[in-house]
Amino acid sequence: MLANRASIISPSVTIGISTKVNELKKQGIEITNLSIGEPDFFTPEKAKLAAIEAIKTNRTKYDSASGLLELKQAVIRKLKRDNNISYDIDEIIISSGAKHSISNALLTILNPDDEVIIPKPYWTSYPEMVKLLNGTPVFANTKDENSFKLQADELQSLITNKTKAIFITNPSNPTGAIYTRNELEALVKLCVNNNIYILADEIYEKIVFDDTFTSIASISNEAKNITITINGLSKSAAMTGWRLGYAAANSEIISAMSSIQGHLVSHPCTIAQWAAVEAINSCESDTQNMVKTYHERRNRVIKMFEEIDDLSIIRPDGAFYTFINMSQLKPFFSNIDSFSLEISNILLDQYRLAVVPGIAFGLDDYIRITYAADMNTITTGINKIKQFIEDIKK
Ligand code: PLP
Repeated sequence: MLANRASIISPSVTIGISTKVNELKKQGIEITNLSIGEPDFFTPEKAKLAAIEAIKTNRTKYDSASGLLELKQAVIRKLKRDNNISYDIDEIIISSGAKHSISNALLTILNPDDEVIIPKPYWTSYPEMVKLLNGTPVFANTKDENSFKLQADELQSLITNKTKAIFITNPSNPTGAIYTRNELEALVKLCVNNNIYILADEIYEKIVFDDTFTSIASISNEAKNITITINGLSKSAAMTGWRLGYAAANSEIISAMSSIQGHLVSHPCTIAQWAAVEAINSCESDTQNMVKTYHERRNRVIKMFEEIDDLSIIRPDGAFYTFINMSQLKPFFSNIDSFSLEISNILLDQYRLAVVPGIAFGLDDYIRITYAADMNTITTGINKIKQFIEDIKK
């Protein structure tokens, strides 16, 4: 008999899609894949060489549970250089990906029945992680006209004496929206006044197209004290498979996260950590080149959607996704469990285009495409969506 927690979590929609895409590919069917959530670039050369050097010089043993000293120092320099926040060494932990940093943080702060506020649309793993720990996800509705960014009055109405934490994903996956400093200050004020931790998921921090990103912990000392900043190398340095993330928070939280990590996994792969030191210290120009390309693609995507009458998108100012409002097509579909799943299945089965249904992010009127793909694939994919709409309306 399995534990109850094994049955309360839902299987990942995104993994379901990639499994189906792989099966179709194995049958020799060509798929236009705009469902992927990872950079279409390779890890920078210098980071790869640092890993090889670590292997050659036998830096391959167990190390500190909270991560290599050299990597924590690099993260501290990064947080000062990019975000103007000062952290001490006992306020940083290195984990096996941002996902692992988030689960460590939740393990550290959540008691059973604690509520965690999750603005919709959300990154698909947050609710499942909260449920796994017997916490209660409390979904916050947000508005299309605010690019689905949570506003302070919307947060206020959800706060109870059980509220323990809130997720703020900035820039957002799936919308690419970026919070203004004013919006963040209003949210921080409420969280400080109500003793609510902020889980600031800033994994897409580097992929921004205007100079508008504010790291939440930089807002004030009070903000810093209640914020667990989550970041990593997956998106900024195209290092998804290396599984390297980190968290910054007050030393009480980091110390508990380190103990938990020590017992559950010891620490992330040492070799990957040496690669991350190099990525943080000397691969900024590689990141900038990737961002330049994402920016060009983003502009092209916006232009293409301006030419499609029946669809609107949330303007992406960061990350590498576009969240597309398909609700105008709803009258053509009735009596189905999930509109976005139905659309995604039709796009895959009939048009050979893989997208992610909005239901995976809690909003069923939408689908998400990525522009972490070459321009030809992006253009082909958007033209397929256009064709699908024309066919439906025939
Ligand atoms: N947070 C968000 C918002 C993401 O989109 C992702 C990956 O898609 C992650 C966290 C996980 O990143 P990592 O690969 O570092 O675990």
